[in-house]
Amino acid sequence: MHIQSKLPQIGTTIFTTMSSLATEYNAVNLGQGFPDFEMNKELIDLVHAAMLQGNNQYVHSNGLALLRDRIAEKYANLYQSNIDADKQITITPGGTYAIYTALTTVLNAGDEVIIFEPAYDSYIPNIVVNGAKPICISLQYPNYAIPWNEVRAKVNSKTKMIIINSPHNPTGAVLSQEDINELRSIVANTNIFILSDEVYEHLIFDDLKNLSILRYQDLLERSFVCFSFGKTYHCTGWKMGYCISSAALMQEFRKVHQFNCFSSNSPLQFALASYLNNQDAYNLLGKQFQQKRDFFRNLMQQTPFKFIPSQGSYFECYSYEGLSNLSDKDFAIQLTKKLGVTVIPVSAFYHNEEDNKVIRFCFAKQEATLQLAANRLMQFENLF
Ligand code: GLN
Repeated sequence: MHIQSKLPQIGTTIFTTMSSLATEYNAVNLGQGFPDFEMNKELIDLVHAAMLQGNNQYVHSNGLALLRDRIAEKYANLYQSNIDADKQITITPGGTYAIYTALTTVLNAGDEVIIFEPAYDSYIPNIVVNGAKPICISLQYPNYAIPWNEVRAKVNSKTKMIIINSPHNPTGAVLSQEDINELRSIVANTNIFILSDEVYEHLIFDDLKNLSILRYQDLLERSFVCFSFGKTYHCTGWKMGYCISSAALMQEFRKVHQFNCFSSNSPLQFALASYLNNQDAYNLLGKQFQQKRDFFRNLMQQTPFKFIPSQGSYFECYSYEGLSNLSDKDFAIQLTKKLGVTVIPVSAFYHNEEDNKVIRFCFAKQEATLQLAANRLMQFENLF
């Protein structure tokens, strides 16, 4: 049988590749972004209770109403946003699914989507599979700021959407109010949609605020904002997330969603609805993860790697400029094989594999794990 690939240029995601290599070499895996500490037991108990209470059949395709109400309350408290839980929120099996569904909802063949690279690696395939074209703009190395003049130059009548992601994967960069103002002025009086990937909404450091699109009613009218319970509650394997949009856009999103997975996991939704009452569980996350970033950064100062400051997310990038001539992909493979530490090469997040000799570390780990990785990295000069 011959299949005409919809994604002829696409291989296996770097996360699968590096995690498999980590397992093969028994390396400390600071590559793929997932915590190695246990999630909250109370939330596990709530799932168990929900199952025992018989909440094991489909919930509404839009998601459990109680959970959507709690999410609307959360953002009313956090950002004074006024979200209609019934019309504007849909629960999805993960943040990546929410992104895919939003793109599929709006994209037609030939449409252009502006993305900023390095970009989370699902964006391009999700655009291409819908027959649309990614227009890639490189963030300014090394501070990874958005070059807004270039965005203005690339916007044209085919531009259907701009994807933003803050806190940013893989760099940890965070959008400022000036960025939001630039975005607003570019999309004003156009039909350009915004996809805002906010899965790291609470993992934000140095007293910065998450300038969520949910704060700006005018921007939300044209936006799909995607979130992840897995990132907030340390359960990435649950694959639970949600999308918030305007009522009109959400109606179309739901048309696509209902014939893809129909509805998301029921007992998890009952449990999450109860657990959302615990505001500390998300409000304290920034401080907790900042401690991890700083702990790791201090350890890394005893290695030859130079940090590129992260202000949010699970990640901090480090440069190995001057330490090796290897490409970042080969360098990452050698780090796993020779030193037993797995990282993600940042070129994997560029369509043309732009290589600034930067690797991404996930610090969402126990201190002992970070210490072990750093101890190994301190041996770097003996082995390279
Ligand atoms: N979001 C996580 C990361 O960037 C993992 C995503 C995945 O494995 N698909 O590492």
